[in-house]
Amino acid sequence: MELKRIYWTRQTLKMAYIATTVWLFASAVGALTPGKAVTADGAGISAVTGVLRGMLDRVLGAAAVPSLILVVLIIVAAIIRSQDVRRRDPIRRFSRQQRREGMARAAGVCEMEARFRRRCSRPAEHGDHFYPWSKGGSTSLRNFVAACARCNRGKGARIPSPGQQSRIERRRRDYVTPAGSVAVGERQPLPRV
Ligand SMILES: [Zn+2]
Repeated sequence: MELKRIYWTRQTLKMAYIATTVWLFASAVGALTPGKAVTADGAGISAVTGVLRGMLDRVLGAAAVPSLILVVLIIVAAIIRSQDVRRRDPIRRFSRQQRREGMARAAGVCEMEARFRRRCSRPAEHGDHFYPWSKGGSTSLRNFVAACARCNRGKGARIPSPGQQSRIERRRRDYVTPAGSVAVGERQPLPRV
């Protein structure tokens, strides 16, 4: 699984979304600030509507580009979300066999990260999908991490970073038997339509 690509694509999208939103607001506010205001000729109501129309035109003009980019980003995010849903493993719960093997591989100790990037030392109670099930993570031994209740709750459905992945794999070299695999993380392929 190319976690690096998946993770950074989504981080970049998220940052682009935030940046474009800020840009949109800033350009709208900028278009309304005095100094740029044009004086409407005429008097009374027509002058007021003229000023208002001028303001509206400037706001729409300034917001056009960031709005367009925002719409594109929202569409891309919706496509990614729908693909995540299509990838979902029809089996969500780990089998008894997977649970037994996964817990044995971890020697019954939580494999998640505690403070200072150390391994958590609490006893494992749950089998957790390393790559979240809701985002297309496989219900497989490769995607199984033993977790204590606290780490399991704290993790949520976030996509793990490539750093977290490599650190788990590095730590596993110390406790997984030579017969077992240290590799962690698996994602379901997109089903063919
Ligand atoms: Zn833990």
